[in-house]
Amino acid sequence: MKIKTRRTKIVATIGPASESPEVLDRLVAAGVNVVRLNFSHGTPQEHRQRAENVRAAAKKNGVIVGILADMQGPKIRIGKYKTGKTMLTPGQKYIIDADLDLNEGDDERVGLTYKELVGDVEPGARLLLNDGLIVMDVDEVKGQEIHCTVIIGGVLSNNKGINRAGGGLSAAALTDKDKEDIKTACAIGVDYIAISFPRNGADMDYARSLVEAEGSRAGLIAKVERAEAVTDENLKSIMESSDAVMVARGDLGVEIGDASVPPVQKKMLRMAPKFNCPVIVATQMMESMCENPIPTRAEVNDVANAVLDGADAVMLSGESAAGKYPVEAVQAMHRTCMETEKQHVLPSSATRDPRFPPHSVDECIARQAMETAHMMDIKAIMAFTQTGNTVLYMSRHLGDVPIYALTSEEHTLGRVSLFRNVTPLIMERPYGPTDAPLATRDVQKMLQDNKLADPHDLIIMTFGTPMGQSGGTNAMKIIKVGENM
Ligand code: PGA
Ligand code: MN
Repeated sequence: MKIKTRRTKIVATIGPASESPEVLDRLVAAGVNVVRLNFSHGTPQEHRQRAENVRAAAKKNGVIVGILADMQGPKIRIGKYKTGKTMLTPGQKYIIDADLDLNEGDDERVGLTYKELVGDVEPGARLLLNDGLIVMDVDEVKGQEIHCTVIIGGVLSNNKGINRAGGGLSAAALTDKDKEDIKTACAIGVDYIAISFPRNGADMDYARSLVEAEGSRAGLIAKVERAEAVTDENLKSIMESSDAVMVARGDLGVEIGDASVPPVQKKMLRMAPKFNCPVIVATQMMESMCENPIPTRAEVNDVANAVLDGADAVMLSGESAAGKYPVEAVQAMHRTCMETEKQHVLPSSATRDPRFPPHSVDECIARQAMETAHMMDIKAIMAFTQTGNTVLYMSRHLGDVPIYALTSEEHTLGRVSLFRNVTPLIMERPYGPTDAPLATRDVQKMLQDNKLADPHDLIIMTFGTPMGQSGGTNAMKIIKVGENM
């Protein structure tokens, strides 16, 4: 097994540019930790095939790669054009017509996938199409027709998205298609399912009930991309009820305005450790690499700042799914993260805040292990974990001591792949109740064999006693490498 040294994780979306076994193999070799399957495109069979190809590429490279299934959600889209597109000029009148056939768009009007939009807008509302590149203001709503004036024009083509500035759409976070897709994702055995456009924690709780009904243990990721979601109260409830959150800057930027995205990103990264919630920073991180083999300086800075602010993962979307340089984009993220991580990251004080006491014995051990690691010169933390919870708590401290998650649970390997600073390791030997001394020797050997620790280095091992039983972590041991072997 190869052991990676990068602390920040890379999530890469696969699509036409990267789903062949050859390119996937190169993406994984370049350091992708989690692959995102975008359920906005493709059939269940295609997703299943992609997941199989990802697993084969991971195996071939001797690494663990998690799989994330991203639900489409209530993304509102216009219909298609008879000629594929129309050209809009500022000042022009245009009609979005919920009654029009979805294939009959022309220079005057176009159909709509979400008929309820008609009831959700009023004169003065601003509609943003194609990620905000086209802007229209609503003049009036006549029956099923939304009459608009074009403010910013341009070419509008088939199936482009519509957002309302400021949010306020009544659409529920889970569509009928999402409910079917959740079943597919659970059957494929993905590690994470991302829910698009949740408004609050209740939307995530509902999604979880659907996932649990399938008997799946997939983690749930809330994509924060709706104006309603970014109030303090809703962010809190979302973080409490999700296994991770995504700063989904594409739709979020359209809804709340581009200038409001950086403060929301910073706020989420500041809040998240208190809720033990990992954060993925997503969308347009290396956008220019859709066309170019190197990123812009601004893009490199964007990735570096996410790393410095404590993101668990940075994500590629179009860059790896449909761009010209998918492998180069992963390499650019890798080198940016590696270089940025050389800067000392201060351990988070959030998890030491007395207002956020540990909730459980394993959380308490996790915190004490990290406190000890920062007081002593600890080279590595070897955590035996069945659920991955202990390493989740540890990794919230944002320190720079590497954490290794030793587990025999396949699902846990995929889950912890997303956590900052955590490296999953497959535990091949089953340990029995009295095997702590054996485990102590094994972890030292593993670290030394992989040149991750030298004789006399101090390491920490955390585990549950008696070993081999599924119960929480309740013990921590400081070991001097090479002694008591
Ligand atoms: P999407 O979500 O790529 O599925 O739209 C991410 C975003 O909106 O940023
Ligand atoms: Mn989105």
